[in-house]
Amino acid sequence: MDLRYTPEEQKFRRELASWLASEVPSYGTPPSVHDWPARRAYDTGWQKKLFDAGYAGINWPKEYGGRDATLIEQLIYFEEIAKANAPYVGCNFVGVLHGGPTIMAEGTPDQKAKHIRNIISGAEVWCQGFSEPVAGSDLAGLQTKAVRDGDHYVVNGHKIWTTFAQIADYCELLVRTDPTAPKHKGISWLIMPMNLPGIDIRPLPTLEGEGEFSEVFLENVRIPVENLVGKENDGWRVTNVTLRFERGTAFASEMINLQAFVRGLVKLAQKITSHGATAWEDKALRRELGHLSGELESLWAMVKLSVCEAKASGVPGVGASAVKLYYSELYQKITELGLRLLGRAGLSRSDVAGLPAQHLLNRHLNSLSISIAAGTSQIQKNIIGERILGQAKDPAPAKA
Ligand SMILES: Cc1cc2nc3c(=O)[nH]c(=O)nc-3n(C[C@H](O)[C@H](O)[C@H](O)COP(=O)(O)OP(=O)(O)OC[C@H]3O[C@@H](n4cnc5c(N)ncnc54)[C@H](O)[C@@H]3O)c2cc1C
Repeated sequence: MDLRYTPEEQKFRRELASWLASEVPSYGTPPSVHDWPARRAYDTGWQKKLFDAGYAGINWPKEYGGRDATLIEQLIYFEEIAKANAPYVGCNFVGVLHGGPTIMAEGTPDQKAKHIRNIISGAEVWCQGFSEPVAGSDLAGLQTKAVRDGDHYVVNGHKIWTTFAQIADYCELLVRTDPTAPKHKGISWLIMPMNLPGIDIRPLPTLEGEGEFSEVFLENVRIPVENLVGKENDGWRVTNVTLRFERGTAFASEMINLQAFVRGLVKLAQKITSHGATAWEDKALRRELGHLSGELESLWAMVKLSVCEAKASGVPGVGASAVKLYYSELYQKITELGLRLLGRAGLSRSDVAGLPAQHLLNRHLNSLSISIAAGTSQIQKNIIGERILGQAKDPAPAKA
């Protein structure tokens, strides 16, 4: 076996790196996190640029405007995007990383024709309406109801933690279509246009001070039956397809960003001084940074495996839960080290003495949310225990 990159792969890397080197610096910096229309324009503008240059939907079929790249090209792509510090997928996250892939895997020909090219080119922004006040980890306990009325579903309910709801055009919406069936069997996956009458979006501020999440109240919202993805009451199976994309391959570029983040911490440690010595002169700190870099390498190997599984079967395997769990824990350890490096400056929300306190604090706060988003770490451990290691399920709690 020859593990070296082929001339074609090297050419792909060179061309992508050169395109990024000319486009990223001129694209400008992201707008204020509070300016939602500007954020949408920035994120979708970059997505459109990628699309026009043939670099959007790197693993998507060509018929939908994707590149249908080989596995190795996909990995090269993630590496170069992160190296160039290219804009983050941002508000295109749901559509590009799991909504679009779910529609490709499960949608009707009409749904594919209507949405996939729009998602990949940044013309459509999506959000995810899965969680409810009483259905997060126990997602199958969701209560938002959809009742068939002719060629529409009439939907009533309450979604929560809906990221980017206020700028989304469509929502991947989970509803209960059969309240009499066992809870995993009466769910359906619908495409909900966000401009329908009866949708009330109320932003919720996060610790970082942004209104990134919203509560979404649904009152007699009429969604056409043609927007059903998969079969009626088969939504739990479709949901698992979505979640595997969300937990597996969706984190690939973030992981490489973490490698860049660690390199930034090394530079910071070389700059911060205390009692006449730089933090970098502390052997224990260097050892810690070395371990974290090693762990990131292991994680990257797991991502490669997840990308390979997705390529082979169309959907990442349950190992996606291990990737998500490991990524969340490592991310938190790394950003916690960043705050420790800052010392007292880490108590400030603003930059102090030229140290990037604001950035490091925001990354740390963000890292805390990652072990909750897309299924908590405890839930990933349950999945790993039961479905990968074959351990027995926890007994149901005793009834009072
Ligand atoms: C940054 C971020 C973005 C998000 N974006 C979206 C979005 O766009 N759309 C969307 O629908 N949702 C979104 N969510 C919601 C997210 O999916 C839920 O918060 C998550 O599934 C947990 O559900 P919960 O908050 O209801 O907590 P709960 O399910 O109430 O859990 C509370 C605690 O109990 C633990 N727990 C629960 N059940 C078990 C069990 N069986 N075994 C062991 N421990 C258990 C959990 O691990 C957790 O620690 C987002 C969350 C975050 C943090």
